Amino acid sequence: MNNYFDYAASTPVSQHILNAMKPWENEKFANASSAHQAGRASAQAIQRARELIADKIGALPSEIIFTSGASEANNLAIKGVAFKHLDGKGHIITSEIEHKCILNACAFLESIGFVVTYLAPDKNGRISPSSLAEEIRSDTILISIHHVNNELGTIQSIEEFGAIAFEHNIPFHTDAAQSFCKCDIDVDDMDIDMLSLSGHKIYGPKGIGALYVRDARDSELVPLIHGGGQEAGLRGGTSPTPLIVGLAAAVESYPTKSDPIEKQFLDVMTQFDCIRNGGVSVVPSTWSVTFHTDEEVTRFTSDYPWLISQGSACNALSNVASHVLSAIGMSEEVARRTYRISLPPYQLSES
Ligand SMILES: *Cc1c(COP(=O)(O)O)cnc(C)c1O
Repeated sequence: MNNYFDYAASTPVSQHILNAMKPWENEKFANASSAHQAGRASAQAIQRARELIADKIGALPSEIIFTSGASEANNLAIKGVAFKHLDGKGHIITSEIEHKCILNACAFLESIGFVVTYLAPDKNGRISPSSLAEEIRSDTILISIHHVNNELGTIQSIEEFGAIAFEHNIPFHTDAAQSFCKCDIDVDDMDIDMLSLSGHKIYGPKGIGALYVRDARDSELVPLIHGGGQEAGLRGGTSPTPLIVGLAAAVESYPTKSDPIEKQFLDVMTQFDCIRNGGVSVVPSTWSVTFHTDEEVTRFTSDYPWLISQGSACNALSNVASHVLSAIGMSEEVARRTYRISLPPYQLSES
């Protein structure tokens, strides 16, 4: 698929990663919870993966809870904290431009009595740390703000959010589905208490992700899936060894350089009358582009029939402007001329 430019929606799994996963699908299929030798081999493979992923974000292996993806990790973080407070309820702070899974989890919590504040971004999609500080209340139980925006590529100042949350002794969660492996993350330096990540955004398989939970065993997070005690009791279900091994292999082999297609893409864009949204602090692989006229849109889409999204993939099937573009003040008319073009992601060099 050399016309695929929707990597922020999903990435392909390489043969190398498929090969790493394969033995755990057939000849080494034992349940990682089984006490026999074959079960222990699965458990060890999972433990190695847990160590590798923990190491990537400066966490302990015991703090990594495998889930089916970032949507589940986000739900576990938000509902898992909220469900500790079902008696007295409480206040949650997030932003208007989170992924739909966060916004819909928060909307559900509002429907059962929680209060949610949605911070507004500026026109570049940046959430200001001072706006967060202003909204903190005595009953705030959770702050959840994403790291990199999936539609704009904008990088948020999560270390500043973390510092504010720490100062007020409020747990801080970040949805890092679009930043994990791309950006350097250290959960201690950044005062992150919970962090969501997803396999299929980093060349890993679909159906696997993780939630980092600080001191997971003592976190008292309420599980969404009660089961046989897997994942520190926070997420029941037989561990998907092949997917977990695939996720770790993806982390290990994550590219450190841009794909040559990035340069070709930059050359193409110079031929069109358009602007890039999202401000100066953006990841190089995610482009939100507004064409100046309908004619430019037509010229672009006919000359380059790329597989891209308007807004995010999740919004693509509806006709309304995405909630992110609306939140940064874009009219429906301008949003219709705006596309998300996302290139193969890679690790940004330390700045
Ligand atoms: C893709 C994405 C998700 C959802 O991840 P899944 O693993 O597909 O559930 C959540 N948040 C952001 C920012 C994403 O880009």
